[in-house]
Amino acid sequence: MVVILLGPPGVGKGTQGVLLADALDWERIVTGDLLRAARRSGTELGRKAKAYMDAGELVPDELVVALVEERLEGIPAETGVIFDGFPRNVAQAEALAESLQRLGRQVDKVLLLEAPDDVLEKRLTGRRTCPQCGAVFHVEFEPPAVDDVCDRCGHRGLIQREDDRPETVRHRLEVYRSQTEPLVRYYEDAEADVVRIDGDRSVDQVRDAVRAAAMEGVEA
Ligand code: AMP
Repeated sequence: MVVILLGPPGVGKGTQGVLLADALDWERIVTGDLLRAARRSGTELGRKAKAYMDAGELVPDELVVALVEERLEGIPAETGVIFDGFPRNVAQAEALAESLQRLGRQVDKVLLLEAPDDVLEKRLTGRRTCPQCGAVFHVEFEPPAVDDVCDRCGHRGLIQREDDRPETVRHRLEVYRSQTEPLVRYYEDAEADVVRIDGDRSVDQVRDAVRAAAMEGVEA
């Protein structure tokens, strides 16, 4: 099975992708995480990606597609794969279709998570991350037990991702609407199984809807 989690930044693709992958023992391919890891390890790719990411722009397709292909080829054909943050435009969707075809696979489901822009803006601008262990908090919806201290590793000094600042968040949403949202039509036209899921609900409610949609029509 190959499932694409599609939806705007902040809608919960990351959270839901982890829950689904853990429940089914599937692998995730998360291009934002792969790019952030490349930046942390100071690779050439990481250096090239930095300016685009901090500005809320898409990193050039060829860089991202190469990362995805490398990761995809390392996953056994019988293991389910969840894409989060990829594809982000039609060119990437076409590159993905080709890579999957070479591996004898295809996109089986597109799960479209949706929420209004004001909800997304609030979620993203309030997000804080632990620079030491990567745990994610929210100043209002999921604050740490002690102000500014990571619950998981005890590190003091949670940070806001550069691209979670209000102006950049607004730009990321515009980029989503103009470049990524057209993929809904693209996959509907390709007669893929596109399932719309209301992401403006509790994590548990969305988790159940995502799981049901991913498993629908799949033999247990
Ligand atoms: P995310 O964590 O998915 O919100 O991604 C953070 C940033 O990484 C995006 O704003 C882009 O700059 C970059 N990025 C992630 N995935 C892609 C992709 N598929 N294509 C281009 N840029 C990407």
